[in-house]
Amino acid sequence: MLIVMRHGATEEEIRKVVAVIQEMGYQARPMPGAQRTAVGLVGNDGRVDASRLEALGGVQEIIHVSKPYKQVSREWQAENTVVRLAGGVAIGGNDVVAIAGPCSVETEKQIIEAARQVREAGAVILRGGAWKPRSSPYSFQGLGRPGLKLLAKAREETGLLICTEAMDPESLGYVAEVADIIQIGARNMQNFSLLKAAGRAGKPVLLKRGIAATITELLLSAEYLLAEGNHDVILCERGVRTFDTLTRNLLDLTAIPVVQKLSHLPIIADPSHGTGLREKVIPMARAAVAAGADGIIVEVHPNPEDALSDGAQSLYPDQFNQLMREVRVIAEVIGRRVAEPTPVDA
Ligand code: PEP
Ligand code: MN
Repeated sequence: MLIVMRHGATEEEIRKVVAVIQEMGYQARPMPGAQRTAVGLVGNDGRVDASRLEALGGVQEIIHVSKPYKQVSREWQAENTVVRLAGGVAIGGNDVVAIAGPCSVETEKQIIEAARQVREAGAVILRGGAWKPRSSPYSFQGLGRPGLKLLAKAREETGLLICTEAMDPESLGYVAEVADIIQIGARNMQNFSLLKAAGRAGKPVLLKRGIAATITELLLSAEYLLAEGNHDVILCERGVRTFDTLTRNLLDLTAIPVVQKLSHLPIIADPSHGTGLREKVIPMARAAVAAGADGIIVEVHPNPEDALSDGAQSLYPDQFNQLMREVRVIAEVIGRRVAEPTPVDA
């Protein structure tokens, strides 16, 4: 529930609303806005009797949020959330942001080379898993903590920000120390204890849609992060499982405008896992930007044929370079621009 205060409501009136919400046994989240302050009431499971609040001084209106997710909804916050990162990178504003790099961090040479190549093409954030959720326990599981060190080194050398996955509460602690964005993978979208921990980790979170999750379930999982106080959440459409076997997944681009209507959170697309096939990644990345995605996350490997994971869907660096050229043109058509890496000497 949202208690919208009148324009010019006093500090005292806002404090009173907060106190009454707390007396009623709920939590209060004051949200100062440019025009007026609203106070969010959270912690309720079902409709709250608002009669006590309605009568308080300075209260203009009570809005009952109709969706099962609350703080994530557009009813709660009308303006888009812009996730602000170091170096002026912002996700959810006018910029379209490219996150790129290999599926996994493999060696120092591989990750530094990949970072240089994707930066050269125009990515502002480097991706690469140090912990990998693999379908088979016999597949490469990632380098773990040494992988994080290599990512930190790549950031130092290129200035790119780092997006990397945390698979469990233990790796989350290490990832949060290094990453600029903590990725929660598709398989963990409904790992609620991990979501709660990520909500307290103090770093922005990229939350990927589960392989068979509805959009409502994705938004409810995001609500776990906001409920813990983390508002820097970026959603990611990465394809859902379907009956067709010709692609790895079905990249649900409809989810982009649907999410944008229901939520204020930014949403990006992952055409790599969304298709699983290198030559399908490029058209679907273009389509995602045309559909209004706030960014793309693309797997790029210096030598895809040698990749320890997801080689078949990893772009060659020159393909990524070409993709970025195309995406710049598409972004312009819809009144946006692709974020560019800051020059090294800037
Ligand atoms: C990945 O980004 O490499 C990954 C494992 O993605 P997902 O969780 O979407 O499968
Ligand atoms: Mn991958």
